[in-house]
Amino acid sequence: MWSQKWVIGNWKMNGRLQNNNALMHRFRILPAADKVTIGLAAPTVYLLQLHNAMQIVLNNRILTCSQDVSRFPGNGAYTGEVSAEMMADIGVDIVLIGHSERSLYFGEKNEIQRQKMENVLAVGLTPLLCVGESLQEREENKAKEVIAHQLSILAGLNTKNIAVAYEPVWAIGTGKVATIEQIAEMHEFIYQQILSLCGSDVRIRVLYGGSVNAGNAADIFAVPCVDGALVGGASLSYDSFTSIINAAQ
Ligand code: PEP
Repeated sequence: MWSQKWVIGNWKMNGRLQNNNALMHRFRILPAADKVTIGLAAPTVYLLQLHNAMQIVLNNRILTCSQDVSRFPGNGAYTGEVSAEMMADIGVDIVLIGHSERSLYFGEKNEIQRQKMENVLAVGLTPLLCVGESLQEREENKAKEVIAHQLSILAGLNTKNIAVAYEPVWAIGTGKVATIEQIAEMHEFIYQQILSLCGSDVRIRVLYGGSVNAGNAADIFAVPCVDGALVGGASLSYDSFTSIINAAQ
């Protein structure tokens, strides 16, 4: 059980300079959240804006998170890519890896995710690996098998800190939230899997993601082994996002 939960907002492909700025200024009045670590994952093009605002306006009270990173390290002839080194250079703290939208639209699978994890760890940033089953996989009773396969990339990584977001694909952006029983069962399973893959001395954090909102956050945070939330749609609204942060206290 962690003393601080993580609440990470994932803006996905949303935002504009002016709106982002206005939102950052609103966050100045966010009440002190001692029991919560807050992060925002903006589109890559806005990460520097976000990081500067965190430093200048928000006294670093919110972490800068990236929604993705290149599978290739350093520099090189990889047009359109942004490496983990570049993320570190501009002050990113946490990097999401393997979001289901990356596998759905860009065909990302385990091998690529593993490379990304290694690159992010190599430059000292924190990877947040997203895992989750589709509706069909759940209905076919394969949810645990699928998640065990996704988590298998964690074996042998050079870290003792593992952060994972359990995001059932059928609950992302659909308004359908996993039941408290489903969340408890899967989080417990994920903890056990990570312990057996990475050893008993590993420090584990498992967030839940999938239609978390102001109305359901408190119940979700009360579930054992829920160490925070990855919030998509609701993170775009100041009021919803701050209600979720307050529920995590
Ligand atoms: C997400 O994008 O990771 C997510 C959980 O989205 P939403 O909260 O909108 O379901």
